[in-house]
Amino acid sequence: MALRFFNTYSREVEEFDPGDPVRLVKMYACGPTVYSRAHIGNFRAYIFEDLLQRHLEVRGYKVHRVTNITDVDDKTIRGAREAGVPLRKFTEQFKQAFFEDADTLRIKRANEYPAATDQRYIDRMIEMISTLISKGLAYQAEDKSVYYRINKFPNYGKLAHFDLSQLQATGRVKHDEYDKEHIGDFALWKAWDEEDADVKWDSPWGPGRPGWHIECSAMSTALLGDQLDIHCGGVDNIFPHHEAEIAQSEGVTEKKFVHYWLHCAHLLVDGQKMAKSLGNFYTVPDVVAKGYTGRELRYALLRVHYRVPLNFTWDGMNEARESLERIDEWLARLREIADEENVQRSTSNAQRPTQNFEEALDDDLNISAALGFLFESISETNRAMDEDKLDAKAAAAWLNWWERINHVLRLEPGEPRPRVLVAQTGELRLSGTLVAEKIPAEVTRLAKERAQARLAKDFKKSDELRNELSARGWEMRDTKDGYTITRRDAG
Ligand SMILES: [Zn+2]
Repeated sequence: MALRFFNTYSREVEEFDPGDPVRLVKMYACGPTVYSRAHIGNFRAYIFEDLLQRHLEVRGYKVHRVTNITDVDDKTIRGAREAGVPLRKFTEQFKQAFFEDADTLRIKRANEYPAATDQRYIDRMIEMISTLISKGLAYQAEDKSVYYRINKFPNYGKLAHFDLSQLQATGRVKHDEYDKEHIGDFALWKAWDEEDADVKWDSPWGPGRPGWHIECSAMSTALLGDQLDIHCGGVDNIFPHHEAEIAQSEGVTEKKFVHYWLHCAHLLVDGQKMAKSLGNFYTVPDVVAKGYTGRELRYALLRVHYRVPLNFTWDGMNEARESLERIDEWLARLREIADEENVQRSTSNAQRPTQNFEEALDDDLNISAALGFLFESISETNRAMDEDKLDAKAAAAWLNWWERINHVLRLEPGEPRPRVLVAQTGELRLSGTLVAEKIPAEVTRLAKERAQARLAKDFKKSDELRNELSARGWEMRDTKDGYTITRRDAG
């Protein structure tokens, strides 16, 4: 079956057809507002977009992805003012942090990351606003700001599926927006006020700055043309942000702006909305500081279908770790068999890879089903290997299959987490690239002591030492050759 996605605009699963023979997919995804470090909920959406792009590539499409950086808005201006630094300096640190975190999570870089404050795009925004005014779709109010006249755009509300007449005053209208004709009219150009300090650009309507929505309309159409194949974002972008993008872009071009709107559901933490006040607000470095790798977090954020809310828990992180350990052990076994040249084994056809993984992703990126096929395949091939019924050729075929699906998953090992092997005698052997300096001396001492306590069969002391290690965030596990200690906060 063909590739198909749930389109927020039609509320239906539609076949994906970017127009034959065009295989270039123009994709736009709303990026971060760089006023603080992005949280793991933001990255859930970026990982969904990464998965989407990679699967399209597996299916033969070339994807041109643009992700914008919002580096001017109320929050960035307030942040710069409070920090007492220029806006550019304030936003730069969070821009860098965004790229660092995206790399940690193995997210493919977009082709372009336009910034809203780039004069090229400011010019484009001004040009679009002028066109909207000349068409009667926008007006300058007494407060000098320019607003979109939503009553003049009959399709307004079609994406969010609501009736314009239901839009009522919420009582949260800003004091500087009292001059709007309709409560739903949104700002295209915000007139300068004292709080903006030196953040301002000249325009035909006086000094000011662009509204958030027009930034995306200007940057997407400047870089991808009037019509996009796919536009992504989180569900909270649907209204008013994406609704406004449609009104602005189509108001100017009079062409259908986006063919497929795809939105990623929320991320919850322990069943609750993430909030700094609840103490459940996490960034990528927060998760890494608890002893998890970017690869483990990538898996945890990836494994739930993008339209289903994802509940982030530390148990879930541990499950992610266990799933990846299963994959790693499986790959190691396959590699061992694939390397054996002269061992004769019989392999049944049931143990050959199929296209199930890709076909599951064709179905609106059904990652849970795709991963289901992966783990089923791991169980089956492990069983065959246990029974000595998988030959080198079949093992090589499975490794090729892994390479193929890993283009989408990007879950290959390669980022060892802090882990120490302790031999039964209490001697330490380091694994992976871990260097001794990374393990606190106290932890090394406790681990050695515990190994020796076990050797002396002093189990009471050994349990006490294990608890001490655990209190320091290190877990000691017994293995057949000795022990491993792993940094792992209880969370
Ligand atoms: Zn946007």
